[in-house]
Amino acid sequence: MDQYYVNDDAQTKGEHEVHRESCSYLPKNKTYVGTFSNCKEAIAKAKTIYTNVDGCYFCIPDCHTR
Ligand SMILES: [Zn+2]
Repeated sequence: MDQYYVNDDAQTKGEHEVHRESCSYLPKNKTYVGTFSNCKEAIAKAKTIYTNVDGCYFCIPDCHTR
């Protein structure tokens, strides 16, 4: 299980990136999403916080789509 966070600041294309707690690129301004066994569940939950979300390329490449 990993703890996931979503960046409060949007990327240039408007999406909010979701990160694992252990990511080197974990942003300062973030909202705790929850603890999940996989990134897809974390993304689904993050979409209840921000409508436009995407997984971080570095820590959850399986959920990175853009
Ligand atoms: Zn990350």
